[in-house]
Amino acid sequence: MPEKDWSDYRGILIVVEQRNGIAKKVSWQLLGEGRRLADKLNTHLSALVIGSNVSALAKEAIYRGADQVYLCDSEELKDYRTRPYSKVCLTVIGQYKPEIVLMGATYTGRDLAGAIATHLPTGLTADCTQLDVDEQRLLLASRPAFSEKMLATILCKQFKPQMATARSGVFLALPLDPTRDGDIIPIASQMKEDEIVTRVLDFLEQNDYVSLEDQEIIVAGGRGLGGPEAFALLQNLADALGGVVGASRAAVDAGWITHDHQVGQTGSTVRPKLYFAIGISGAVQHVVGMQNADMIVAINRDPNAPIFKVAHLGIVGDLFTLVPALCTAIKAQKDGQESVGIAL
Ligand SMILES: Cc1cc2nc3c(=O)[nH]c(=O)nc-3n(C[C@H](O)[C@H](O)[C@H](O)COP(=O)(O)OP(=O)(O)OC[C@H]3O[C@@H](n4cnc5c(N)ncnc54)[C@H](O)[C@@H]3O)c2cc1C
Repeated sequence: MPEKDWSDYRGILIVVEQRNGIAKKVSWQLLGEGRRLADKLNTHLSALVIGSNVSALAKEAIYRGADQVYLCDSEELKDYRTRPYSKVCLTVIGQYKPEIVLMGATYTGRDLAGAIATHLPTGLTADCTQLDVDEQRLLLASRPAFSEKMLATILCKQFKPQMATARSGVFLALPLDPTRDGDIIPIASQMKEDEIVTRVLDFLEQNDYVSLEDQEIIVAGGRGLGGPEAFALLQNLADALGGVVGASRAAVDAGWITHDHQVGQTGSTVRPKLYFAIGISGAVQHVVGMQNADMIVAINRDPNAPIFKVAHLGIVGDLFTLVPALCTAIKAQKDGQESVGIAL
C-alpha cells in the first residue's frame, strides 16, 4: 500500500481542559511540553479552548506558550459533554490539520480523546508519562505498560494526527509571560442545544475526594505509620502547612486511607512545592510519582532507606516523635515565637 502523504499536517495542538473557567494544571503543563516539542519540530503550537465565558483562558494559553488559540465560546458548551466538545475538536483538527494533538489524561480528557480518535483514522496513546519527537516528526509517546512493569514507547507511523493524553504533574508549565502575543481565532459551536441529547442537571461535588495533582504541599505517609490512626498526625502537619495528605500504595492497600491519596505509578503523579515522605521507604514505583517535587523532605528511621537518595532534606528518626514536634514548631513560629527546638 503506498504511503499517504501527510505533509499538510503541521503544528501541535493542545486541548485545554477547564471547569467553571478554571483551567486544569495539566493543560498548562502540556502547553509547556508542547512548546518544547514544537520548537524541536520548528513548527507552531496551538491551543483549543472550549467553554462558555472562557476568553480569559485563551489569553492565558498564549501567555503560557501557545502561538495561537482556537476559541469556541458558547453558552451550550458551559459544561463538558462528549458530543458537542468532540465535534468542536474534530472541526478544528479537520480544518487546521495539526500533526500532534495532546490533552490531559483526566476523566474528561480520556473521554474526549477517545471520542475524537474513534472518528479519525488514527490511534491514541493514553496516559503518557514521557513525550518526545524524532527526526521523522514522529511522536514518541511513552507510557507504563504490562501492569506498569515497563515503559513502552508507542509510535503512530501511518496516520495523522498523532494523538496522546498525558498525566498531570509530569511536565513543567511555563511561567506566565504577559508580553507574549498571538492570534485568537474564533470557532463556531458545532451543535445547537436542541441537537444535544445529554443534559447536565447538576454537579454533585465529592467533598471527601482529594485531587493531589494540583496541590502545592503534600504530606505523605507509608507503611511506617503502622496503622490508619497515625494519618491523623500527618493531617495535623498538613493542616499546619496548608497542605493535604498523600500516601504510599502500601498504606492504601492496607486500607488505611483511600486510593485518591495514593502517589506513584498506579496513583497520582504530583509536582508540589513541598513533599513530605514520612515512613515511606522510597520504592521506585512511589518515587516516579513524586520525584519532581521542588522540595522533598523524608522522615525515616532507617538511615539507608532509598527515599533519602531523592530527598533534598532527610531526617533520620522516629516519625511518632518528629511529626508532633514539627507541628509544635510550626505552630510556635506562626504564633511569633523566635526559635523552637525539636527534641529528638
Ligand atoms: C506494578 C506496581 C505498581 C506500584 N505502584 C505504586 C504506587 O503507585 N505508589 C506506591 O507508593 N507504591 C507502589 N507500588 C508498591 C511499591 O513497590 C512499594 O511496595 C511501596 O511503595 C512501599 O510502600 P512504603 O514505602 O509505605 O512501605 P515500606 O516499603 O514497607 O516502607 C516503610 C518505611 O517506613 C519506615 N518506618 C517504619 N517505622 C517507622 C517509624 N516509626 N518512623 C520512621 N520511619 C519508619 C521503614 O524504615 C521503611 O523505610 C507498586 C508496586 C508495583 C509492583
